[in-house]
Amino acid sequence: MSEPSIFTRILEGEIPSEIVAETENVFAIRDIAPRAPVHLLVIPKSADYRDVVELAAGDPALLAEIVGLANTLAAEHADGDFRLVFNTGAGAGQTVFHVHAHVLAGSLTEAGLG
Ligand code: 5GP
Repeated sequence: MSEPSIFTRILEGEIPSEIVAETENVFAIRDIAPRAPVHLLVIPKSADYRDVVELAAGDPALLAEIVGLANTLAAEHADGDFRLVFNTGAGAGQTVFHVHAHVLAGSLTEAGLG
């Protein structure tokens, strides 16, 4: 058995982080090091998939749930427009190998991301 991911530990309450949204299969938290005015992470509760490529192949409905929750959160936390980023592979900056979507929103140009 590999060690539980940091996101599983957050979900289980071992590491403190406010869960801003939760459904049967996915949950969302604020990124600890935000790179935009709104920077949320949408994460499947299951740690079965390392990255979005594995997730898309293994459970496309779960990927669609992630996109749907990202859309809902962007409307709640910003004006509804958002950028969805899945870092895929260490060379692309992925550090947690439990698939998650970065939801970036709110004045992205001012944040230097436009
Ligand atoms: P990645 O680099 O794998 O695409 O994204 C992982 C993200 O998780 C990073 O943006 C990082 O700031 C965030 N992160 C890492 N540890 C924690 C934590 O303990 N709490 C929260 N809320 N975010 C974390």
